[in-house]
Amino acid sequence: MKKTVKALAAYQAELPVETVKAKYGLQHLARLSANESVYGPSPKVAQAVRAVSDDILGYYPDGQATELREAVAKLNHVDPQHLVFGAGADELIELLTRVVLEPGSNIIIPNPTFGEYAMHAQIEQSTTKKIPVNVDNGHVDFDAILDAIDDKTAMVWIANPNNPTGVFETTSSIKRFLDKLPVNITLVVDEAYYDFVDEPDATMAPLVAEYTNLVVLRTLSKAYGLANLRVGYGIMQDPLYSAMQAVRLPYNLSTYQIAGGTAAVLDQEYLQKNAQRFQVERQKFQEFLTQNKFKFYESQANFIWIKVGETKKVGQKLLEQGFQVNDRLNPEWIRIALGTPEDNAELKLAFLKAT
Ligand code: PMP
Repeated sequence: MKKTVKALAAYQAELPVETVKAKYGLQHLARLSANESVYGPSPKVAQAVRAVSDDILGYYPDGQATELREAVAKLNHVDPQHLVFGAGADELIELLTRVVLEPGSNIIIPNPTFGEYAMHAQIEQSTTKKIPVNVDNGHVDFDAILDAIDDKTAMVWIANPNNPTGVFETTSSIKRFLDKLPVNITLVVDEAYYDFVDEPDATMAPLVAEYTNLVVLRTLSKAYGLANLRVGYGIMQDPLYSAMQAVRLPYNLSTYQIAGGTAAVLDQEYLQKNAQRFQVERQKFQEFLTQNKFKFYESQANFIWIKVGETKKVGQKLLEQGFQVNDRLNPEWIRIALGTPEDNAELKLAFLKAT
């Protein structure tokens, strides 16, 4: 076995909600630990999945996901031949790493950020340079990333908004950075939480046609409320597009994923309504944190990164009160996803008790 794989700790997937409820004897559990959408998907998704004919079960699905490809291309005003689909953005992260990294190369990421970028680099026998975000406001230090580049640097990953900080970088600041980046280094902008941003022009997608080294990632797991269906996509041009299409498994999305994903993308009214609900709740929760003098970073996502001191203790106290949050990322900072308005109102009281 590869030494780099042997050294990996098993990824701690979330326990199912029913398991956690039984363990702590809870009637109600608000699962706010995985940045899912408490509103779930558009009802049109289940309708579309159910409408798939049983006759197709014995045949492979459409390996090009044509229906979904056309809907996503139209939505984002991008070339359908710039889209690569996967079982969640997770699959695209794994594939991009595999396609781009030679053993002994390195990637550069902000710290903190989503753990999978470094994990997949490690599997590919590459190292990760972690550049701390600005301690005061959580913004990415693009100049420090440029300074960290060496002749083995092959990729830079920017989650925007970032996970776990929720901090959003403007498209113009990322473009300025991209213009200074050598063209042999791939920049992946992971826009998993793009739909929650309330500022205009928040996506790098239109720039993919201009830059061969830019990739934009999206997922239906967050604002679309479809974490269980496993649908994500990457926007990129050649040579990356052709390489990714060659390396991905030929039938990586089933007909159910294609049909459900297409229905979700076409129901923009439902998406916008829920994104706005999160924006309103985010504003209210941030006002509560400010009033109670907690340090947090201004979030543009559906979760907030808050400095609480003893994270594990606070996480445990919240769990006992029926709120599951993410207390595994930092000893002092906790990540809490926003729930329903009712849950968030209760959460404020529980949070004051726990801190
Ligand atoms: N990117 C980021 C920044 C994430 O936070 C997540 C999910 N936690 C993903 C990608 C992967 O999401 P999925 O595989 O469900 O699309």
